[in-house]
Amino acid sequence: MSPTPAPGGPAGPASCDFVVFGGTGDLALRKLLPALFLRDAEDQLADDARIIGVSRADVDDAAYRAGARAGLADHVPDADPVAVDRFLGRLHHVPLEFDDAEGWHLLHGLLKNRPLGEPDPVRVFYLAVAPSLFGLICERLEQVGAVDERSRVVMEKPIGHDLESARAVNDAVGRVFDESQVFRIDHYLGKESVQNLLVTRFANTFLEPVWNAHWIDHVQITVAESLGVGSRGGYYDRAGALRDMVQNHLLQLLCLVAMEPPTVASREDVRDEKLKVLKALKPLTAAEVDRDTVRGRYGAGLVDGEPVASYAEEVGVPDTRTETYVALKAEVNNWRWAGVPFYLRTGKRMDRRLSEIVVVFKQPPHAMFPHSEGVNEANRLHIHLQPDEGMRMHMTAKEPGPGGIRLRPVSLDLSYAATFEQRLPDAYERLLMDVIRGNPTLFMRRDEVEAAWTWVEPILDRWASTPERPRKYPAGTTGPTAAATLLERDGRAWQETDQ
Ligand code: NAP
Repeated sequence: MSPTPAPGGPAGPASCDFVVFGGTGDLALRKLLPALFLRDAEDQLADDARIIGVSRADVDDAAYRAGARAGLADHVPDADPVAVDRFLGRLHHVPLEFDDAEGWHLLHGLLKNRPLGEPDPVRVFYLAVAPSLFGLICERLEQVGAVDERSRVVMEKPIGHDLESARAVNDAVGRVFDESQVFRIDHYLGKESVQNLLVTRFANTFLEPVWNAHWIDHVQITVAESLGVGSRGGYYDRAGALRDMVQNHLLQLLCLVAMEPPTVASREDVRDEKLKVLKALKPLTAAEVDRDTVRGRYGAGLVDGEPVASYAEEVGVPDTRTETYVALKAEVNNWRWAGVPFYLRTGKRMDRRLSEIVVVFKQPPHAMFPHSEGVNEANRLHIHLQPDEGMRMHMTAKEPGPGGIRLRPVSLDLSYAATFEQRLPDAYERLLMDVIRGNPTLFMRRDEVEAAWTWVEPILDRWASTPERPRKYPAGTTGPTAAATLLERDGRAWQETDQ
Protein backbone atom coordinates (compact mmCIF):
# COMPACT_ATOMS: atom_id res chain seq x y z
CA MET A 1 0.00 0.00 0.00
CA SER A 2 1.47 3.37 -0.86
CA PRO A 3 0.22 6.60 0.65
CA THR A 4 -1.93 9.00 -1.29
CA PRO A 5 -1.01 12.63 -0.67
CA ALA A 6 -3.35 14.62 1.51
CA PRO A 7 -6.10 16.30 -0.49
CA GLY A 8 -5.54 19.92 -1.20
CA GLY A 9 -1.76 19.55 -0.68
CA PRO A 10 -0.12 22.85 0.12
CA ALA A 11 -3.28 24.69 -0.98
CA GLY A 12 -5.37 23.62 1.99
CA PRO A 13 -5.20 21.65 5.22
CA ALA A 14 -5.90 17.94 4.86
CA SER A 15 -8.98 16.45 6.35
CA CYS A 16 -7.53 14.22 9.02
CA ASP A 17 -8.19 11.90 11.95
CA PHE A 18 -5.13 11.94 14.19
CA VAL A 19 -5.18 8.96 16.56
CA VAL A 20 -2.71 9.00 19.46
CA PHE A 21 -2.15 5.58 21.04
CA GLY A 22 -1.00 6.56 24.51
CA GLY A 23 -3.20 9.65 24.39
CA THR A 24 -3.08 10.21 28.17
CA GLY A 25 0.70 9.76 28.44
CA ASP A 26 3.48 12.23 29.05
CA LEU A 27 4.48 12.55 25.41
CA ALA A 28 0.91 13.18 24.28
CA LEU A 29 0.12 15.79 26.92
CA ARG A 30 3.50 17.54 26.94
CA LYS A 31 4.39 17.52 23.25
CA LEU A 32 1.80 16.17 20.80
CA LEU A 33 -1.37 17.96 21.90
CA PRO A 34 0.41 21.33 22.41
CA ALA A 35 2.02 20.99 18.96
CA LEU A 36 -1.29 20.16 17.28
CA PHE A 37 -2.96 23.00 19.19
CA LEU A 38 -0.38 25.53 18.00
CA ARG A 39 -0.82 24.43 14.38
CA ASP A 40 -4.58 24.60 14.79
CA ALA A 41 -4.27 28.10 16.22
CA GLU A 42 -2.58 29.02 12.93
CA ASP A 43 -5.46 27.47 10.95
CA GLN A 44 -3.42 24.56 9.70
CA LEU A 45 -5.87 21.83 10.63
CA ALA A 46 -8.93 21.23 8.48
CA ASP A 47 -12.27 22.26 9.97
CA ASP A 48 -13.30 18.64 10.39
CA ALA A 49 -9.95 17.34 11.73
CA ARG A 50 -10.30 15.19 14.84
CA ILE A 51 -7.76 14.09 17.43
CA ILE A 52 -8.51 10.81 19.14
CA GLY A 53 -6.63 9.77 22.26
CA VAL A 54 -6.52 6.05 23.04
CA SER A 55 -5.56 4.56 26.41
CA ARG A 56 -6.88 2.22 29.08
CA ALA A 57 -8.05 5.15 31.20
CA ASP A 58 -11.80 5.05 31.75
CA VAL A 59 -12.40 8.66 30.67
CA ASP A 60 -15.02 10.09 28.34
CA ASP A 61 -14.49 12.93 25.87
CA ALA A 62 -15.34 15.59 28.47
CA ALA A 63 -12.81 14.28 30.98
CA TYR A 64 -10.16 13.88 28.28
CA ARG A 65 -10.72 17.47 27.15
CA ALA A 66 -10.43 18.68 30.75
CA GLY A 67 -7.05 16.87 31.06
CA ALA A 68 -5.90 18.33 27.76
CA ARG A 69 -6.98 21.83 28.85
CA ALA A 70 -4.81 21.50 31.95
CA GLY A 71 -1.90 20.24 29.82
CA LEU A 72 -2.22 23.19 27.44
CA ALA A 73 -2.34 25.62 30.37
CA ASP A 74 1.03 24.22 31.52
CA HIS A 75 2.74 24.00 28.13
CA VAL A 76 1.19 26.88 26.15
CA PRO A 77 0.47 29.35 28.94
CA ASP A 78 -0.43 32.31 26.71
CA ALA A 79 -2.84 30.36 24.49
CA ASP A 80 -5.83 32.21 23.05
CA PRO A 81 -8.89 30.88 24.98
CA VAL A 82 -11.07 30.87 21.83
CA ALA A 83 -8.48 28.79 19.97
CA VAL A 84 -8.23 26.45 22.99
CA ASP A 85 -11.99 25.86 22.98
CA ARG A 86 -12.01 25.18 19.25
CA PHE A 87 -9.10 22.74 19.63
CA LEU A 88 -10.65 20.92 22.60
CA GLY A 89 -13.79 20.41 20.53
CA ARG A 90 -11.72 18.24 18.17
CA LEU A 91 -10.64 15.86 20.95
CA HIS A 92 -12.12 12.44 21.68
CA HIS A 93 -10.99 9.59 23.88
CA VAL A 94 -11.47 5.89 23.27
CA PRO A 95 -10.78 3.66 26.29
CA LEU A 96 -9.28 0.39 25.21
CA GLU A 97 -6.74 -2.20 26.25
CA PHE A 98 -4.68 -3.01 23.16
CA ASP A 99 -4.83 -6.69 23.93
CA ASP A 100 -8.58 -6.76 24.20
CA ALA A 101 -10.56 -7.00 20.93
CA GLU A 102 -13.63 -5.18 22.25
CA GLY A 103 -12.56 -1.53 22.34
CA TRP A 104 -11.20 -1.66 18.80
CA HIS A 105 -14.67 -1.66 17.33
CA LEU A 106 -15.44 1.49 19.31
CA LEU A 107 -12.41 3.13 17.75
CA HIS A 108 -13.29 1.96 14.28
CA GLY A 109 -16.89 3.11 14.76
CA LEU A 110 -15.67 6.56 15.69
CA LEU A 111 -13.35 6.67 12.69
CA LYS A 112 -16.19 5.69 10.37
CA ASN A 113 -18.54 8.21 11.95
CA ARG A 114 -18.09 10.86 9.28
CA PRO A 115 -20.66 12.74 7.18
CA LEU A 116 -22.24 10.45 4.57
CA GLY A 117 -20.78 10.61 1.09
CA GLU A 118 -17.49 12.21 2.13
CA PRO A 119 -14.30 10.23 1.52
CA ASP A 120 -12.36 8.91 4.51
CA PRO A 121 -9.81 11.47 5.63
CA VAL A 122 -6.08 10.88 6.09
CA ARG A 123 -5.67 8.69 9.16
CA VAL A 124 -2.59 9.16 11.28
CA PHE A 125 -1.87 6.49 13.91
CA TYR A 126 0.71 7.85 16.33
CA LEU A 127 2.31 5.13 18.46
CA ALA A 128 3.18 7.00 21.68
CA VAL A 129 3.54 3.77 23.63
CA ALA A 130 6.27 1.19 24.30
CA PRO A 131 7.62 -0.34 21.05
CA SER A 132 6.68 -3.83 22.26
CA LEU A 133 3.06 -2.76 21.59
CA PHE A 134 3.61 -1.42 18.05
CA GLY A 135 3.05 -4.75 16.29
CA LEU A 136 -0.08 -5.57 18.28
CA ILE A 137 -1.64 -2.15 17.60
CA CYS A 138 -0.97 -2.40 13.86
CA GLU A 139 -2.39 -5.90 13.71
CA ARG A 140 -5.57 -4.84 15.53
CA LEU A 141 -5.97 -1.80 13.28
CA GLU A 142 -5.82 -4.03 10.24
CA GLN A 143 -8.22 -6.58 11.74
CA VAL A 144 -10.94 -3.97 12.28
CA GLY A 145 -10.40 -2.56 8.80
CA ALA A 146 -9.10 0.84 9.95
CA VAL A 147 -6.07 0.89 7.62
CA ASP A 148 -6.28 2.08 4.03
CA GLU A 149 -3.83 3.46 1.52
CA ARG A 150 -4.15 6.94 3.00
CA SER A 151 -3.26 5.82 6.53
CA ARG A 152 0.06 6.67 8.12
CA VAL A 153 1.75 5.33 11.20
CA VAL A 154 4.21 7.28 13.36
CA MET A 155 6.79 5.40 15.42
CA GLU A 156 8.49 7.00 18.41
CA LYS A 157 11.91 5.98 19.58
CA PRO A 158 13.21 3.63 20.82
CA ILE A 159 12.93 1.46 17.74
CA GLY A 160 14.41 -1.67 19.25
CA HIS A 161 17.34 -2.04 21.64
CA ASP A 162 19.63 -3.65 19.07
CA LEU A 163 19.60 -4.55 15.38
CA GLU A 164 17.61 -7.76 15.81
CA SER A 165 14.87 -6.19 17.92
CA ALA A 166 14.72 -3.13 15.62
CA ARG A 167 14.16 -5.50 12.69
CA ALA A 168 11.45 -7.30 14.64
CA VAL A 169 9.62 -4.02 15.38
CA ASN A 170 9.99 -2.87 11.77
CA ASP A 171 8.79 -6.27 10.48
CA ALA A 172 5.74 -6.19 12.77
CA VAL A 173 4.72 -2.71 11.60
CA GLY A 174 5.70 -3.54 8.02
CA ARG A 175 3.26 -6.47 7.90
CA VAL A 176 0.44 -3.90 7.93
CA PHE A 177 1.91 -0.66 6.61
CA ASP A 178 4.00 -0.14 3.51
CA GLU A 179 7.36 1.50 4.26
CA SER A 180 6.10 4.64 2.50
CA GLN A 181 3.35 4.91 5.13
CA VAL A 182 5.74 4.64 8.08
CA PHE A 183 7.05 7.81 9.73
CA ARG A 184 9.85 7.19 12.28
CA ILE A 185 10.17 10.37 14.21
CA ASP A 186 13.41 11.90 15.47
CA HIS A 187 12.40 15.29 16.82
CA TYR A 188 15.93 16.65 16.38
CA LEU A 189 15.31 16.65 12.64
CA GLY A 190 12.35 19.00 13.08
CA LYS A 191 14.39 21.73 14.75
CA GLU A 192 14.69 24.94 12.77
CA SER A 193 18.44 25.06 13.24
CA VAL A 194 18.86 21.52 11.92
CA GLN A 195 16.90 22.32 8.78
CA ASN A 196 18.83 25.55 8.51
CA LEU A 197 22.01 23.52 8.51
CA LEU A 198 20.85 21.98 5.22
CA VAL A 199 19.90 25.39 3.84
CA THR A 200 23.20 26.94 4.95
CA ARG A 201 25.15 24.13 3.33
CA PHE A 202 23.18 23.78 0.12
CA ALA A 203 21.51 27.15 -0.61
CA ASN A 204 24.79 29.05 -0.34
CA THR A 205 27.98 28.58 -2.32
CA PHE A 206 30.69 29.70 0.06
CA LEU A 207 30.70 26.70 2.40
CA GLU A 208 30.63 23.81 -0.04
CA PRO A 209 34.21 24.22 -1.40
CA VAL A 210 35.61 24.08 2.15
CA TRP A 211 33.23 21.45 3.56
CA ASN A 212 35.67 18.55 3.38
CA ALA A 213 38.83 16.99 4.75
CA HIS A 214 41.05 19.58 3.05
CA TRP A 215 39.70 22.42 5.14
CA ILE A 216 37.90 20.90 8.12
CA ASP A 217 40.00 19.62 11.01
CA HIS A 218 37.25 17.89 12.94
CA VAL A 219 33.59 18.07 13.96
CA GLN A 220 32.14 17.98 17.49
CA ILE A 221 28.53 17.14 18.27
CA THR A 222 27.32 17.66 21.84
CA VAL A 223 23.91 16.95 23.32
CA ALA A 224 24.09 17.72 27.04
CA GLU A 225 21.16 17.65 29.44
CA SER A 226 21.15 19.00 32.98
CA LEU A 227 18.17 16.80 33.90
CA GLY A 228 18.53 13.29 35.26
CA VAL A 229 16.41 10.35 34.18
CA GLY A 230 13.36 11.44 36.19
CA SER A 231 10.37 9.15 35.74
CA ARG A 232 11.96 7.31 32.79
CA GLY A 233 14.32 5.33 35.04
CA GLY A 234 12.80 1.92 34.29
CA TYR A 235 13.23 2.35 30.54
CA TYR A 236 16.53 4.21 30.76
CA ASP A 237 18.28 1.63 32.89
CA ARG A 238 17.67 -0.95 30.16
CA ALA A 239 18.75 1.47 27.43
CA GLY A 240 21.57 3.85 28.44
CA ALA A 241 22.91 6.88 26.62
CA LEU A 242 24.30 5.06 23.58
CA ARG A 243 20.93 3.54 22.68
CA ASP A 244 18.83 6.47 23.88
CA MET A 245 20.75 9.30 22.20
CA VAL A 246 23.69 8.27 20.03
CA GLN A 247 22.02 5.58 17.89
CA ASN A 248 19.36 8.04 16.77
CA HIS A 249 19.77 11.78 17.49
CA LEU A 250 23.56 12.15 17.37
CA LEU A 251 24.05 9.92 14.33
CA GLN A 252 21.26 11.75 12.51
CA LEU A 253 23.00 15.07 13.19
CA LEU A 254 26.29 13.59 12.00
CA CYS A 255 24.55 12.52 8.79
CA LEU A 256 23.28 16.02 8.09
CA VAL A 257 26.76 17.48 8.56
CA ALA A 258 28.48 14.82 6.48
CA MET A 259 26.03 13.98 3.69
CA GLU A 260 26.55 14.83 0.03
CA PRO A 261 24.22 17.39 -1.58
CA PRO A 262 21.01 15.58 -2.54
CA THR A 263 19.55 16.25 -5.98
CA VAL A 264 16.60 17.94 -4.33
CA ALA A 265 16.07 18.47 -0.62
CA SER A 266 13.00 16.35 -0.45
CA ARG A 267 11.70 12.89 0.14
CA GLU A 268 14.02 10.02 -0.67
CA ASP A 269 16.98 12.06 -1.88
CA VAL A 270 17.89 13.34 1.59
CA ARG A 271 17.31 9.94 3.17
CA ASP A 272 19.41 8.22 0.48
CA GLU A 273 22.31 10.55 1.23
CA LYS A 274 22.02 10.08 4.99
CA LEU A 275 22.05 6.32 4.52
CA LYS A 276 25.29 6.54 2.54
CA VAL A 277 26.91 8.33 5.48
CA LEU A 278 25.74 5.70 7.96
CA LYS A 279 27.10 2.97 5.72
CA ALA A 280 30.42 4.82 5.41
CA LEU A 281 30.93 4.98 9.20
CA LYS A 282 34.06 3.02 9.99
CA PRO A 283 33.10 0.01 12.13
CA LEU A 284 34.91 -0.05 15.48
CA THR A 285 36.93 -3.11 16.46
CA ALA A 286 36.98 -4.20 20.11
CA ALA A 287 40.36 -2.47 20.57
CA GLU A 288 38.98 0.72 18.99
CA VAL A 289 35.93 0.60 21.26
CA ASP A 290 38.28 0.48 24.24
CA ARG A 291 40.35 3.35 22.88
CA ASP A 292 37.80 5.59 21.17
CA THR A 293 34.73 5.41 23.40
CA VAL A 294 34.19 6.65 26.95
CA ARG A 295 31.14 5.87 29.04
CA GLY A 296 30.24 7.49 32.31
CA ARG A 297 27.57 7.52 34.97
CA TYR A 298 26.69 10.44 37.20
CA GLY A 299 27.19 10.33 40.92
CA ALA A 300 25.62 12.75 43.37
CA GLY A 301 26.46 16.40 42.82
CA LEU A 302 25.17 19.92 42.43
CA VAL A 303 23.10 21.05 39.46
CA ASP A 304 22.21 24.75 39.33
CA GLY A 305 23.30 24.97 42.95
CA GLU A 306 20.88 22.24 44.05
CA PRO A 307 22.07 18.88 45.41
CA VAL A 308 20.96 15.93 43.26
CA ALA A 309 21.14 12.19 43.84
CA SER A 310 23.34 9.77 41.93
CA TYR A 311 21.94 7.87 38.96
CA ALA A 312 21.98 4.58 40.91
CA GLU A 313 19.90 6.18 43.67
CA GLU A 314 17.57 7.82 41.18
CA VAL A 315 16.72 4.53 39.46
CA GLY A 316 17.01 2.47 42.65
CA VAL A 317 19.49 -0.02 41.15
CA PRO A 318 22.67 0.10 43.30
CA ASP A 319 24.74 -2.18 41.03
CA THR A 320 23.57 -0.69 37.71
CA ARG A 321 25.98 -0.89 34.76
CA THR A 322 24.07 1.60 32.63
CA GLU A 323 25.89 4.59 31.14
CA THR A 324 24.38 8.07 31.37
CA TYR A 325 27.23 9.61 29.37
CA VAL A 326 29.00 8.66 26.15
CA ALA A 327 31.83 10.31 24.27
CA LEU A 328 33.26 8.69 21.18
CA LYS A 329 35.25 9.26 18.06
CA ALA A 330 33.71 8.25 14.73
CA GLU A 331 35.12 8.39 11.23
CA VAL A 332 33.33 8.58 7.90
CA ASN A 333 35.24 6.48 5.41
CA ASN A 334 34.69 8.34 2.18
CA TRP A 335 36.49 10.74 -0.14
CA ARG A 336 35.09 13.90 1.45
CA TRP A 337 35.79 13.01 5.08
CA ALA A 338 38.84 10.73 5.07
CA GLY A 339 40.85 11.41 8.23
CA VAL A 340 38.37 13.88 9.79
CA PRO A 341 37.26 12.75 13.25
CA PHE A 342 33.67 13.31 14.35
CA TYR A 343 33.65 13.52 18.15
CA LEU A 344 30.23 12.86 19.65
CA ARG A 345 29.23 13.25 23.28
CA THR A 346 26.00 13.18 25.20
CA GLY A 347 25.16 12.99 28.86
CA LYS A 348 22.64 13.56 31.58
CA ARG A 349 23.09 15.71 34.67
CA MET A 350 25.71 17.80 32.93
CA ASP A 351 26.64 21.33 33.95
CA ARG A 352 24.15 22.77 31.44
CA ARG A 353 21.56 22.01 28.80
CA LEU A 354 23.18 22.44 25.44
CA SER A 355 22.96 20.88 21.98
CA GLU A 356 25.36 22.07 19.37
CA ILE A 357 27.44 21.07 16.39
CA VAL A 358 30.88 22.65 16.08
CA VAL A 359 32.76 22.45 12.80
CA VAL A 360 36.41 23.28 13.46
CA PHE A 361 38.36 24.35 10.39
CA LYS A 362 42.08 23.91 9.86
CA GLN A 363 44.57 26.66 10.59
CA PRO A 364 45.51 28.75 7.55
CA PRO A 365 48.19 26.91 5.56
CA HIS A 366 50.68 29.73 5.98
CA ALA A 367 51.16 32.05 8.96
CA MET A 368 51.00 35.51 7.37
CA PHE A 369 51.14 37.44 10.62
CA PRO A 370 53.77 35.57 12.64
CA HIS A 371 54.94 38.64 14.56
CA SER A 372 51.57 40.18 15.29
CA GLU A 373 50.09 40.33 18.73
CA GLY A 374 46.87 38.57 19.58
CA VAL A 375 45.46 35.22 18.74
CA ASN A 376 44.91 33.57 15.38
CA GLU A 377 42.48 30.78 16.22
CA ALA A 378 41.15 28.29 13.72
CA ASN A 379 37.75 29.22 12.25
CA ARG A 380 34.82 27.51 13.90
CA LEU A 381 31.20 27.28 12.93
CA HIS A 382 28.93 26.68 15.94
CA ILE A 383 25.43 25.50 15.10
CA HIS A 384 23.22 25.86 18.17
CA LEU A 385 20.23 23.55 18.48
CA GLN A 386 19.28 24.34 22.07
CA PRO A 387 18.62 26.20 24.23
CA ASP A 388 18.78 29.02 21.64
CA GLU A 389 18.74 28.14 17.95
CA GLY A 390 21.21 29.87 15.69
CA MET A 391 24.74 29.89 14.30
CA ARG A 392 27.97 31.63 15.10
CA MET A 393 31.02 31.73 12.84
CA HIS A 394 34.29 32.46 14.64
CA MET A 395 36.88 34.32 12.61
CA THR A 396 39.97 36.40 13.15
CA ALA A 397 39.93 40.17 12.53
CA LYS A 398 42.35 43.04 12.85
CA GLU A 399 41.80 45.04 15.97
CA PRO A 400 41.31 48.66 14.84
CA GLY A 401 44.15 51.11 15.44
CA PRO A 402 47.53 52.18 14.11
CA GLY A 403 50.90 50.71 15.00
CA GLY A 404 51.01 47.18 13.63
CA ILE A 405 48.50 44.40 13.35
CA ARG A 406 46.81 42.96 16.37
CA LEU A 407 44.65 39.91 15.72
CA ARG A 408 41.42 39.41 17.57
CA PRO A 409 38.83 36.62 17.51
CA VAL A 410 35.42 37.94 16.41
CA SER A 411 32.18 36.26 15.50
CA LEU A 412 29.41 36.53 12.92
CA ASP A 413 26.16 35.75 14.65
CA LEU A 414 22.86 34.46 13.41
CA SER A 415 20.46 34.25 16.30
CA TYR A 416 17.21 32.86 14.97
CA ALA A 417 15.07 34.62 17.56
CA ALA A 418 16.71 38.02 16.99
CA THR A 419 16.91 37.77 13.18
CA PHE A 420 13.44 36.55 12.39
CA GLU A 421 11.52 38.09 15.30
CA GLN A 422 8.90 35.40 15.28
CA ARG A 423 8.03 32.47 17.46
CA LEU A 424 10.12 29.45 16.52
CA PRO A 425 7.83 26.46 16.19
CA ASP A 426 8.61 23.42 18.30
CA ALA A 427 10.06 20.53 16.28
CA TYR A 428 6.91 18.45 16.83
CA GLU A 429 4.75 21.15 15.19
CA ARG A 430 6.69 20.85 11.98
CA LEU A 431 6.95 17.08 12.05
CA LEU A 432 3.29 16.37 12.85
CA MET A 433 2.20 18.58 9.97
CA ASP A 434 4.65 16.75 7.69
CA VAL A 435 2.96 13.48 8.66
CA ILE A 436 -0.50 14.91 7.91
CA ARG A 437 0.78 16.25 4.57
CA GLY A 438 2.56 12.97 3.78
CA ASN A 439 6.10 14.37 3.57
CA PRO A 440 8.62 11.83 4.92
CA THR A 441 11.84 13.81 4.27
CA LEU A 442 12.58 14.51 7.95
CA PHE A 443 11.73 11.00 9.15
CA MET A 444 14.05 8.02 9.41
CA ARG A 445 13.67 5.26 6.89
CA ARG A 446 13.94 1.66 7.98
CA ASP A 447 17.33 1.15 6.33
CA GLU A 448 18.72 4.21 8.14
CA VAL A 449 17.60 2.94 11.55
CA GLU A 450 19.05 -0.47 10.87
CA ALA A 451 22.33 0.93 9.51
CA ALA A 452 22.66 3.01 12.69
CA TRP A 453 22.14 -0.09 14.85
CA THR A 454 24.68 -1.98 12.75
CA TRP A 455 27.32 0.64 13.59
CA VAL A 456 26.38 0.91 17.27
CA GLU A 457 26.12 -2.80 18.01
CA PRO A 458 29.86 -3.64 18.20
CA ILE A 459 30.19 -0.91 20.84
CA LEU A 460 27.33 -2.40 22.88
CA ASP A 461 28.80 -5.89 22.49
CA ARG A 462 32.26 -4.84 23.60
CA TRP A 463 30.94 -2.92 26.59
CA ALA A 464 28.83 -5.91 27.60
CA SER A 465 31.82 -8.27 27.36
CA THR A 466 34.23 -6.35 29.61
CA PRO A 467 34.10 -6.21 33.41
CA GLU A 468 34.71 -2.45 33.28
CA ARG A 469 31.94 -0.17 34.43
CA PRO A 470 31.10 3.34 33.30
CA ARG A 471 33.36 5.96 34.86
CA LYS A 472 31.80 8.08 37.56
CA TYR A 473 31.37 11.80 37.08
CA PRO A 474 29.81 14.17 39.60
CA ALA A 475 26.40 15.51 38.53
CA GLY A 476 26.64 19.11 37.33
CA THR A 477 30.00 18.71 35.55
CA THR A 478 31.13 18.22 31.93
CA GLY A 479 31.46 14.43 32.34
CA PRO A 480 34.33 12.03 33.02
CA THR A 481 37.88 13.31 32.56
CA ALA A 482 38.56 10.44 30.13
CA ALA A 483 36.32 12.25 27.63
CA ALA A 484 38.76 15.18 27.64
CA THR A 485 41.67 12.75 27.19
CA LEU A 486 39.95 11.28 24.11
CA LEU A 487 40.52 14.59 22.30
CA GLU A 488 43.77 15.60 24.05
CA ARG A 489 45.34 12.45 22.66
CA ASP A 490 44.64 13.84 19.17
CA GLY A 491 45.92 17.32 20.12
CA ARG A 492 42.37 18.74 20.34
CA ALA A 493 39.93 19.86 23.00
CA TRP A 494 36.16 20.02 23.42
CA GLN A 495 34.74 23.45 22.69
CA GLU A 496 33.23 24.22 26.08
CA THR A 497 32.26 27.79 25.22
CA ASP A 498 31.12 29.61 22.12
CA GLN A 499 33.20 32.73 22.76
P1 NAP B 1 3.64 7.20 29.42
O1 NAP B 1 3.53 8.54 30.06
O2 NAP B 1 3.89 6.01 30.29
O3 NAP B 1 2.30 6.97 28.59
C1 NAP B 1 1.96 5.72 28.02
C2 NAP B 1 0.56 5.83 27.42
O4 NAP B 1 0.20 4.58 26.81
C3 NAP B 1 -0.51 6.16 28.42
O5 NAP B 1 -1.51 6.93 27.79
C4 NAP B 1 -1.06 4.78 28.76
O6 NAP B 1 -2.32 4.95 29.27
C5 NAP B 1 -1.03 4.10 27.40
N1 NAP B 1 -0.94 2.64 27.44
C6 NAP B 1 0.10 1.90 27.93
N2 NAP B 1 -0.17 0.59 27.80
C7 NAP B 1 -1.39 0.48 27.22
C8 NAP B 1 -2.22 -0.62 26.83
N3 NAP B 1 -1.83 -1.89 27.00
N4 NAP B 1 -3.42 -0.37 26.26
C9 NAP B 1 -3.82 0.91 26.09
N5 NAP B 1 -3.07 1.99 26.42
C10 NAP B 1 -1.89 1.78 27.00
O7 NAP B 1 4.78 7.17 28.31
P2 NAP B 1 5.33 8.40 27.43
O8 NAP B 1 6.38 9.11 28.18
O9 NAP B 1 4.18 9.19 26.92
O10 NAP B 1 6.08 7.63 26.27
C11 NAP B 1 5.41 6.84 25.31
C12 NAP B 1 6.45 6.24 24.35
O11 NAP B 1 7.11 7.30 23.67
C13 NAP B 1 7.52 5.43 25.06
O12 NAP B 1 7.92 4.36 24.25
C14 NAP B 1 8.68 6.43 25.18
O13 NAP B 1 9.94 5.77 25.21
C15 NAP B 1 8.52 7.22 23.89
N6 NAP B 1 9.05 8.58 24.01
C16 NAP B 1 8.61 9.42 24.99
C17 NAP B 1 9.11 10.71 25.04
C18 NAP B 1 8.64 11.68 26.10
O14 NAP B 1 9.10 12.85 26.07
N7 NAP B 1 7.77 11.30 27.00
C19 NAP B 1 10.07 11.14 24.11
C20 NAP B 1 10.48 10.26 23.10
C21 NAP B 1 9.96 8.99 23.06
P3 NAP B 1 -3.00 3.93 30.34
O15 NAP B 1 -1.90 3.48 31.28
O16 NAP B 1 -4.08 4.73 30.97
O17 NAP B 1 -3.52 2.85 29.50
